[in-house]
Amino acid sequence: MTTLRVLIWFAIAAVAMLLAVWLAERPGSVTAEWHGWRLDSSVGVLLVAVLVLIGLCIGGWLLYRWIVGAPFALLEGWGESRKKRGYRELTQGLAAVAAGDANEAQRHARKAEQLLAEPPITLLLSAQAAQLAGDRDGANRAFTAMLEDEHTAFLGLRGLIGQALREGDQSKALAYAERAFKLKPQTPWVVHSLFDMQAQVGQWKAAQETLETGQRRKVVAADKGRTLKALLLVERSRAADRDGNINDALALAREAFGLAPERIAVTQHFAGLQIKARDAKRAQKTLERGWALAPHPDLAMLYLEASGESDPLKRIGVIRRLVSHNENDIESHLAMAQASLEASLWGEARRHLEIAGGTSPPVRVCRLMAEVEERSGAEQAKVHDWLARAADAPADRAWRCTACSAQHETWRSVCESCGAFGTLQWRAPGTFGHVLPPETRAELEFASNGKK
Ligand SMILES: [Zn+2]
Repeated sequence: MTTLRVLIWFAIAAVAMLLAVWLAERPGSVTAEWHGWRLDSSVGVLLVAVLVLIGLCIGGWLLYRWIVGAPFALLEGWGESRKKRGYRELTQGLAAVAAGDANEAQRHARKAEQLLAEPPITLLLSAQAAQLAGDRDGANRAFTAMLEDEHTAFLGLRGLIGQALREGDQSKALAYAERAFKLKPQTPWVVHSLFDMQAQVGQWKAAQETLETGQRRKVVAADKGRTLKALLLVERSRAADRDGNINDALALAREAFGLAPERIAVTQHFAGLQIKARDAKRAQKTLERGWALAPHPDLAMLYLEASGESDPLKRIGVIRRLVSHNENDIESHLAMAQASLEASLWGEARRHLEIAGGTSPPVRVCRLMAEVEERSGAEQAKVHDWLARAADAPADRAWRCTACSAQHETWRSVCESCGAFGTLQWRAPGTFGHVLPPETRAELEFASNGKK
């Protein structure tokens, strides 16, 4: 390449030299006259003068371009580097947030804010940095400022919900969740958080609407939605019953039972209302269907109540009729053992307890065995033996929360310990097949903060 260039220049120089020689060999003169001025010159000098003039013009033009263009080019370069520095601060700030370094994050956030004149971009970093540093007001200010821009409004609401929960302000969190739900009703965490918040403050009707929207938008699985709706209907039915609207209460309870007869609380509530409405026959049918799907001692108690039977021996017959719908379940044997014990049929009670206990009888079986031995007049050693076994026996079925595993005396729709809705199940410990879904974390915070 370079040799080619040298050759070209060499050729140009040769041509110029030949031209000069040619001009020198052919001298000629040029005479110009203008308003009394007279110029005498040779052709060669004139040609050189013309070339010099052209060169000066080109030089002047380049100089003009440089002078006029420079300030803008300089400004442009300055702005460019400012933006670049701003983005670098932003990146470093986000990295500091991820690493949990509050001071570093705040330092970068401040610099990014100064360098980048684009609030939506830097606000999130400022908010997160403030949050990390425990600066509630700063975080609230930044999250609130995010509401101004339509692109960051949803993110701002999410931050504000978290802030409100941390501050233990349930009504504020609920209001922000409602706004977020209006913006994006298809977002799972919004639906789940709003639903749990509404349930926790007892807004059953509103919670049901949220749930139904979630189901329509496929954010809530059909099966889960069905049982949650049934439990909400139970709560609405309870409220109607408290207000003295037994007919409304019954209608709601019936709808709930139609949706989820496998939930003990649903069966129990519906049958209880039917007994209250003096419809013992239907109450028994309800309990029999519920027992077949999910037996529980409370259902057996209601069944006895519905039968109106007071003779201990006849009560065994009543229980036998109930448990025939689910003969092999431990609850069926325990119910039979209990009824036999009350009728002083020790042998029958022992037989059912042995079946219920199997190879490692749980606490309830051991206690009932001790009671049978005690009341049948057996030796004290036998009684003590069973009580000692009860101390080391595997835990019983109980109302346990599937979200936080907390145990409760009685069933309730909202877990007292974690605030999740509809998670209490009648189970032995360690029998939950699922782990805590991420969206319940917000719910956990909501509930635990509500209590502090
Ligand atoms: Zn819980």
